[in-house]
Amino acid sequence: MAKKQYVNLNFKDGTQSESSLVLLKASIDEKTPGDSNGQVGYFFIEPQGSVMALDMFPAHLRPQGFDKQPKYSISASIENKQMQEPVRIGSGAGDHYKFKYGKLADGSDAKSYPGDALEVWRKVFLRAGHMKGCPPLNIGALSADYDPVSIEFAQDGGEIEIAREHYVYDINSVVSKLNQGQSPPEHSSQTVMVAMVDRIGTRSMIEASEQVWPAKTFIGKVRDWIQTVSGGTLRWKVPNGNLTWPDDKDWVFLVRALFTKKGGAEDIRFLSSPETFVLKDTSYTHYQHPEGTACRQMKIDMDVLRKQLITLMTDDTEKITLDVKLWFIGSPYLGLANSVEPKVIVGTLHPLWGNAIGGGGIAKTVVHELGHICGLVPHYVPVYSEDKAAEESPEENGKWYYAKGGLGHHCGEGATEENGEIDGKPAKVMGGGSCIMFHAGDESAPKSFCGVCQSLLKRADLAKLGLSNVWPKGWSK
Ligand SMILES: [Zn+2]
Ligand SMILES: [Zn+2]
Repeated sequence: MAKKQYVNLNFKDGTQSESSLVLLKASIDEKTPGDSNGQVGYFFIEPQGSVMALDMFPAHLRPQGFDKQPKYSISASIENKQMQEPVRIGSGAGDHYKFKYGKLADGSDAKSYPGDALEVWRKVFLRAGHMKGCPPLNIGALSADYDPVSIEFAQDGGEIEIAREHYVYDINSVVSKLNQGQSPPEHSSQTVMVAMVDRIGTRSMIEASEQVWPAKTFIGKVRDWIQTVSGGTLRWKVPNGNLTWPDDKDWVFLVRALFTKKGGAEDIRFLSSPETFVLKDTSYTHYQHPEGTACRQMKIDMDVLRKQLITLMTDDTEKITLDVKLWFIGSPYLGLANSVEPKVIVGTLHPLWGNAIGGGGIAKTVVHELGHICGLVPHYVPVYSEDKAAEESPEENGKWYYAKGGLGHHCGEGATEENGEIDGKPAKVMGGGSCIMFHAGDESAPKSFCGVCQSLLKRADLAKLGLSNVWPKGWSK
């Protein structure tokens, strides 16, 4: 049975499983008392079976003595029949190492070092919290997905409960609440702050305008139109396919009418109590949220609108354009990861549809966002020379793509570029990805890392978490 060695943690004397340094101690036989004092002995690192290729790793992540002959030999001075030395194993995830020791530099007298083989693992701590009423982070479900890449998760401290807000977007302000009343995490570079939140999105503003007079269906003077036509509803789609802000009490910002007079003079007037005539159209596509509905279409009650217009218009009014500024759900995401620091927020309600997301769906978002924190998905990965670990020109990750429907860097395994829409405009988007690091996903989306992402996670140095800390040169050549 191999023993886990968490190579990304900091070396602590006495905590043998932490860091890539393993403190080896051996006793040396003497022919006559004291004859070994001041002499030198040797430890040898013994990779077991096949291990990850050396050219993926810089010198400080390789087994010590990689550039020597015999390979992986480390000298140690002998005092009082003892030699001891912290020796560095490699950082390739899942690799196994054993050791030998002896008095001869060529290893010809080397004996096996007692103990189990060490298996290379990384440990990531989670300082987790959830908004009141939102489900907490399920670390057990997460760990199983990271087993194939030898990353283990452990909770830092207790699960914190924070106040509930309907929508959040600013990762920093949310996760800072997880530190309230607590000292900073002990493993600060290997701890991810994770907050389970209600919905992720922004209250953004959009404007819809249309000429309401002369109406297409009525020819005549504006005053006649106002007085003779009763009833009627204008139905306007929220521009760019967006959804209204769900709060029924607070979604119209303002309504104004632009009056154009004979000769071209213009007059802009704000209309009062817009909530009495600008309404959400729940007969069209809409979604129920806790605080109201998110609708694709609004309706304008012409009877109420006319009563206001009639008091504002003059005999020489030739044209009236109505202008509605409303709040809509902007930047809806299931989860977000900070691009530098290890901070994550995960939504537990769907940002557009308002429904509670099932445990399986939430678990996928958690796996995806922590993938970013562990460095996915870099555009370039470094390559090093086998013998001296000199940095060579980087390799391009053929699965990488940026934006194309998502936010940031993602994996296009199994995906194809399609014609789609971004913010209501035609654009190239990626569709049908089969890796969990694809930018979009719901309950039915795949949950596992593709081969490329697995390999990236296995070679990632997780001594300092965060996308740009794991691959500092991963973004441009
Ligand atoms: Zn992502
Ligand atoms: Zn992938």
